[in-house]
Amino acid sequence: MRRRGAHFAMIDDCLTSANRIGFVLPRVSFDLHSHSTASDGVLAPHELVARAAARGVSALALTDHDTVQGVAEAQAAAQVAGIRLVNGVEISVSWLGRTVHIVGLNVDTDNAPLLAGLATVRSGRVERARKMADSLAAVGIGAAFEGAAVYATNLEMIGRTHFARFLVNSGRVGSMPSVFKRFLVPGKPGYVKHEWASLSEAVGWIVGAGGEAVIAHPGRYDMGRVRMNELLGEFRALGGTAIEVVCGSHTTGHVPVFADYAAAFGLKASTGSDFHAPGEGGRDFGRLQALPPRCVPIWQDWV
Ligand code: AMP
Ligand code: MN
Ligand code: MN
Ligand code: MN
Repeated sequence: MRRRGAHFAMIDDCLTSANRIGFVLPRVSFDLHSHSTASDGVLAPHELVARAAARGVSALALTDHDTVQGVAEAQAAAQVAGIRLVNGVEISVSWLGRTVHIVGLNVDTDNAPLLAGLATVRSGRVERARKMADSLAAVGIGAAFEGAAVYATNLEMIGRTHFARFLVNSGRVGSMPSVFKRFLVPGKPGYVKHEWASLSEAVGWIVGAGGEAVIAHPGRYDMGRVRMNELLGEFRALGGTAIEVVCGSHTTGHVPVFADYAAAFGLKASTGSDFHAPGEGGRDFGRLQALPPRCVPIWQDWV
């Protein structure tokens, strides 16, 4: 039964690629969520593009946290690699006391209000990181700020991933997933509550820069149905238009759940690996499942 379903999904992919007179065009493989050294990825933008292209991605979005600094380099590399690069960003948001991430796609990376907004979101990171280091020192882990800073190419973007790499590479914790169980999350050493952008600011900056706002990895938020409905309703009202249905941190069980939310709220569906680093957990390029056929892909109207 599962095999049959997969087979039909494949045929459906081919049909959506067929033009009216029946030629089957090469299928575009979209990956609309990834990180470079401009935020907390380990590959420089040009290396990231080369890896994505080598693994069959033909339309990639660079969506660094709270910055578009890597996009120009990625655009140049994409021209060389012969793939499409979508200008993107992933904005950190505080919503009802939780952290939610909003991806912006096809943003104008020269838009002044967007750039000013992102600068304000980044501005608190170093002070937060100092407090995270204090919290780790209290459980006997010293010099964590300096340790994390080694992994931050761009110090103003220092964040939890850099601390996590320090904890793993100094032998204190076995793997990245276990860091985020034992440290750096609410109630655990190294977690510091932080006020990011508001949902309305983030969606406003993205839409104001000509982009489309997307709810990132909804399956990662520990929200029941009531809260998720509230989030999606507010997001839609503010001008948000899409939600990640397939993404690196979603299980196969999440996919139909968020396809249903997309349909219920009239949101388009996006897909992205959220790639950060080779071998660091999460999904690598070129391994995402297809969107369920009932989804309206965010790229439907892209030319
Ligand atoms: P920050 O913006 O500094 O709070 O860092 C958030 C980043 O930490 C995310 O973008 C991920 O890269 C990473 N992260 C958060 N939770 C996890 C997790 N459970 N496993 C792996 N990485 C995580
Ligand atoms: Mn990250
Ligand atoms: Mn995220
Ligand atoms: Mn991300």
